[in-house]
Amino acid sequence: MSTAAVIGGGPAGLIAAEVLARAGVTVTVYDRMPSVGRKFLLAGHGGLNITHSEARDRMLGRYGRSADRLAPMLDVFGPEDLRDWCAGLGEPTFVGSSGRVFPQAFRATPLFRAWLARLAELGVRIETRQRWTGWTGESGRLSFTGADGGTIEVTPDAALFALGGASWPRLGSDGGWVGPFSDRGVAVTPLRPANVGVRVNWSDVFAERFAGTPLKNVGLTVRGGPRGQQVRGDAMVTRTGIEGGPVYAIGAAIRDALDTDGRCVLEVDLRPDLTVDQLVGRLQHRRPKDSGSTWLRRSIGLDPVGIALLRESSGGGLPSDPAATAALVKAVPVVVTGTMPIDRAISTAGGIEWSEVDEALMLRRLPGTFVAGEMLDWEAPTGGYLLQASFSTGVVAARGALAWLRREAASGSR
Ligand SMILES: Cc1cc2nc3c(=O)[nH]c(=O)nc-3n(C[C@H](O)[C@H](O)[C@H](O)COP(=O)(O)OP(=O)(O)OC[C@H]3O[C@@H](n4cnc5c(N)ncnc54)[C@H](O)[C@@H]3O)c2cc1C
Repeated sequence: MSTAAVIGGGPAGLIAAEVLARAGVTVTVYDRMPSVGRKFLLAGHGGLNITHSEARDRMLGRYGRSADRLAPMLDVFGPEDLRDWCAGLGEPTFVGSSGRVFPQAFRATPLFRAWLARLAELGVRIETRQRWTGWTGESGRLSFTGADGGTIEVTPDAALFALGGASWPRLGSDGGWVGPFSDRGVAVTPLRPANVGVRVNWSDVFAERFAGTPLKNVGLTVRGGPRGQQVRGDAMVTRTGIEGGPVYAIGAAIRDALDTDGRCVLEVDLRPDLTVDQLVGRLQHRRPKDSGSTWLRRSIGLDPVGIALLRESSGGGLPSDPAATAALVKAVPVVVTGTMPIDRAISTAGGIEWSEVDEALMLRRLPGTFVAGEMLDWEAPTGGYLLQASFSTGVVAARGALAWLRREAASGSR
């Protein structure tokens, strides 16, 4: 019987282990943490958004530059397959607001418990507190260091790595794999924070009063960025900047602007449902005794945080001319000075370059070694796309490993 080592027990590694074990391979999962699936469980804390219900093309668009490579993998194991898989574990899914998909229990724990029981039934062994440190020897034995400092080496017939990115390192994935992979000549795009808040130097008064306040239903655009790329939603003001769905969704463009110019101007549209002309029309009705704030509240419904953002951008005062005010409301400039660090990010951009793997996710330089999940160089916004791609790549890599094992057995190499 063939043996496979799955290194990394997140969703990508565990679904790969399931596929391999079902096909009769003897599978051992190694993870450096005391238990597997920690990020998956944390992801489920406020509701496990496991995938999205939108149409295929729209979904693929979320993966930006990686859409072409991920498309066939989502065809192999897509949103419907993932939902069926959840149902098979006793957790049917439902479509929540804005098309996001969640398991019935909303949290990840019941689903994960059922999954671990299934893996145990399939005979998957899970070795925790084993940190993979690299390859040793001519034949490339896999080397692990245990919590007691002891080292073990293994030589499975196939190896499948799913070590994640580098966000939230205390949950296990710390990007420590980059060194050994780079040493073997595998090209890795530097790991960067994705789905992360950005830094803004708010005035003390603004930060004090509005940290924790949502900017509801705003549109965000990167000045000078890709045309027409406005994202909408609720963003949250923090003491040191802004975070939340629309900020994450436009994160790659923010990073590009920061890389190119060292700064990024984010334009906040406080009234995305109204045109400039409509705003001008409404702003023309100002009662003589109205203060600037009252005028903005009554005529165009700005809330205190929106009004304060206008003041913040214009050095404390408020414009009084309707046309100038309307233009500002549609594009309040907010200067972003950087992103928050990777340990505060929901996910990671960068990773093993697509050119390093074939369509079965086998490393071209290391036959018999497969990679899956966030280790690969793709990124996506929040909305269930991260877990979907982790599962899809896990299944594809496992099937690739199975095909490789069969070929090797047939050719008599083993
Ligand atoms: C707060 C938060 C909320 C999230 N919410 C969502 C959500 O709602 N929807 C969504 O789609 N995505 C969400 N995500 C993202 C999602 O959890 C990840 O994209 C997904 O877990 C990546 O899966 P993975 O298997 O590639 O890596 P991971 O889940 O990171 O698993 C990697 C595993 O490898 C192990 N490992 C790392 N290095 C070593 C080593 N050297 N030796 C041995 N083991 C090692 C780690 O301990 C870990 O168990 C969220 C993430 C965070 C942080």
